[in-house]
Amino acid sequence: MRKAQRAVREAREVLSKAAVKRAPVDIYRIAEQYADIIEESMPDDISGMLIPLEDPHREKKWAIIVNKTHSEVRRRFTAAHELGHLLLHDYRTPHADTGFKIRFRANREYDASVAEEVEANQFAAEVLMPSHLLMKRTSELDIEYVDADKSHERAIDALAREFKVSKQALQIRLTEFI
Ligand SMILES: [Zn+2]
Repeated sequence: MRKAQRAVREAREVLSKAAVKRAPVDIYRIAEQYADIIEESMPDDISGMLIPLEDPHREKKWAIIVNKTHSEVRRRFTAAHELGHLLLHDYRTPHADTGFKIRFRANREYDASVAEEVEANQFAAEVLMPSHLLMKRTSELDIEYVDADKSHERAIDALAREFKVSKQALQIRLTEFI
């Protein structure tokens, strides 16, 4: 629980520094404040990487590598996820994400690397779907619950496009507060 709050707190601070007022959140512009962002073709199972830059003359100490063969919503999630690792975890060596699941809760509590992936996802969810913006829109669109009921399907599709996130990520996110 404490860890979840830490990731969300950090995300809110990033959003407030970037003065984000509306969706979609410009995650590349935000992440560029902290790291070089490089899009590269990589094998399909690699979403992204966080690489320390050795050159002391460079202003930025890290590069976020995003697999450019993936869809835009996926690349956005990857950039946000890697930024989460950068801000939350004290890595010294390159970190690669191989096909991470959209996982927000650790089942195996004592597995530190799983906990870090969960935190990076929580950070990404809050950055790409900021609570205050999302809550405003769900009440405007009158989305009260998410389940097998198809009545909200169209509103959820529209909301996913508006925030430029996958429908899956949005649905998981919505279960947190509606
Ligand atoms: Zn990761």
